Amino acid sequence: MDILYRSTRGHGKEIASAQAILSGIAPDGGLYIPVSIPSLDRQFGDLACLDYSRLAHYIISRFLTDLDLDTLRECVDSAYDSKYDDNRIVPVVEKAGAHFIELFHGPTLAFKDMALTMLPHLLKAAAAKEKNDRKIVILTATSGDTGKAALEGFAGVKGTSIIVFYPRDGVSQIQERQMTTQEGDNTHVIAIEGNFDDAQNGVKAIFGDREFAAELEKNGYMFSSANSINIGRLIPQIVYYVHAYLELLKSKKIAEGESINIIVPTGNFGNILAAYYSRKMGLPVNMLICASNINNVLTDFINTGIYDRNRKFIVTSSPAMDILVSSNLERLLYDLVEKDPDMIKRLISDLSEKGEFSITDSMREGLDEFFGGFATEQETFESIKYVYDNSGYLIDTHTAVGYSVYKDYVKKTGDDRPAVIASTASPFKFPGSVAGAIDNKYRDMDEFSLLEVLSWMSGTKIPGPLKDIESKKVVHKKSCGTGEMRHMVREALGMG
Ligand SMILES: *Cc1c(COP(=O)(O)O)cnc(C)c1O
Repeated sequence: MDILYRSTRGHGKEIASAQAILSGIAPDGGLYIPVSIPSLDRQFGDLACLDYSRLAHYIISRFLTDLDLDTLRECVDSAYDSKYDDNRIVPVVEKAGAHFIELFHGPTLAFKDMALTMLPHLLKAAAAKEKNDRKIVILTATSGDTGKAALEGFAGVKGTSIIVFYPRDGVSQIQERQMTTQEGDNTHVIAIEGNFDDAQNGVKAIFGDREFAAELEKNGYMFSSANSINIGRLIPQIVYYVHAYLELLKSKKIAEGESINIIVPTGNFGNILAAYYSRKMGLPVNMLICASNINNVLTDFINTGIYDRNRKFIVTSSPAMDILVSSNLERLLYDLVEKDPDMIKRLISDLSEKGEFSITDSMREGLDEFFGGFATEQETFESIKYVYDNSGYLIDTHTAVGYSVYKDYVKKTGDDRPAVIASTASPFKFPGSVAGAIDNKYRDMDEFSLLEVLSWMSGTKIPGPLKDIESKKVVHKKSCGTGEMRHMVREALGMG
């Protein structure tokens, strides 16, 4: 069955996946969604025999039906290789009463690698199929994790260039060093004299600048997005939920057909949407538990049907979840409003004009399978300590938010069926918060020296990508004011 894609906002035509991946966002500002969701048409017992790459190939090829199987095989094999420091790619471990899906074994130690090691290859395949011979330029503003994951993904990929802008004072010591030491002739990293909003607004302005786009086109370039609005990022994320289920099946933690709960520490709603799609494919999932930090817009939305971004933005120890507008929620809304694009447009315009929207009681029924909860900073740190004291296992701050909300869920509902928690980052990425949660004396220590402490605490080695990062050569030293971003892009692309 061919799967086509359409925008959440328009009655526009249905397009093949290659086109949707190349465009990133739809011309009407909406997000591309698959018109129908393919089902898992093989027995779980058969699927359980596949290794991670083969399972990924099976699932991704069910969605990207216009790309041929051999091309997709190359995409999958190029993504999930020795870049991952564990040959299982995604280990699933049982600790402190839950199963953690370890999504952080890729090159940047966060779950975004799961899709961003694949996206460059999907983009190239899509460009070839669409006979697009322009060079693809990925332009990204980052508050830390996305930038590095995109750099790693696109570094050295022929036919692409990547330019990342980050706020000079808005990323952690380790995050900055991860980016400025990035190798690869096609990578460009530039610090902005400003905050993340400045960087983000600058990039958005460039994306919307038609004259600039024409100038690029004349020089043989086109812009694309590595943001999680790209459907090419969403689909590879479905794989690990199916994989986790199969792992529980293989280790006899569940019987065939038995349902599980899934907990996802959520920011932009991309990761949990992938879990939701895995259920639509037929994976036996009981409850999707959406975990937020104190920026708990989504908790309120799931519990009341009102999405209200009119509140203070709070900086927390789980920065990837400090988000007030979760862009991928629009894809879930599309299902809740029963695929009525006019209704979507109304909700989105309410959000931009009033900062809030609300859905009707009948739409809320679609949320019955979601549980929303949040964790305070203190609860987050307590979870890190509890899991460590209980099992000697270190979890990062984002995963700890998930664990805390999971505990609340069990207490509230008594539903203690097997549960998997998306473990979205390595604890080594947030050494100050993680070591500090376990013992206060580490709170204000230098992040680089704390890597050793975490290694000692957990009895595991410092992950390769962070080892020696302090002494690694800084190759990207450019910075610019917010008014000079176009100039920097021209310079990076050799457009004079
Ligand atoms: C991006 C990120 C998240 C949030 O994921 P979404 O798909 O945006 O909901 C959670 N944890 C970590 C570590 C991340 O990098």
